[in-house]
Amino acid sequence: MDFKEKIRVIPDFPHPGIRFKDITTLLKDGPSYKAAINQLADQLKGKQIDVIVGPEARGFVVGAPLAYALEIGFVPVRKAGKLPAETVEANYSLEYGKDALAIHKDAIQPGQKVLIADDLLATGGTISATLDLVRQLGGQPIGLAFLIELTYLNGRDKLKELDIVSLVQY
Ligand code: IMP
Repeated sequence: MDFKEKIRVIPDFPHPGIRFKDITTLLKDGPSYKAAINQLADQLKGKQIDVIVGPEARGFVVGAPLAYALEIGFVPVRKAGKLPAETVEANYSLEYGKDALAIHKDAIQPGQKVLIADDLLATGGTISATLDLVRQLGGQPIGLAFLIELTYLNGRDKLKELDIVSLVQY
């Protein structure tokens, strides 16, 4: 299936010069959404994964159905201040300023093998903060899965030791 055909590109969003990859057009098409998740699941078959971690909000849209397909658990990473129980946090830089992500302290057991899923890999900043959270809890990150990878931003260079799967590259 040509997933690129289903992804809408919006010029100059959210800032002039950015070509935003909008996955809502893929998600609303049931067979395409299902095929995308199944294809990622196929690429991950044979890997030992205990749990999938996904950062809000689009990481839920990819990570949760992938966890369901692989019959493993899903752990949400949220912006700091949103999760109800005890958390650990990691700071990360945004284009303008800083933000913090959080995960429940008891969400991952030491030694568990973790796959991190998100919609899109750009510079790798979001994923680096998510990796930091997983490592703070003693989890063992074993791979990353994305619908989209913006290869020209070289996010992979930051994430060398990890296996990365992505469906569509720009
Ligand atoms: P990074 O932290 O620079 O790798 O950016 C990745 C994060 O920014 C992901 O969580 C994406 O949801 C979001 N993002 C960046 N660019 C785009 C885009 O073109 N389309 C959709 N999301 C994007």
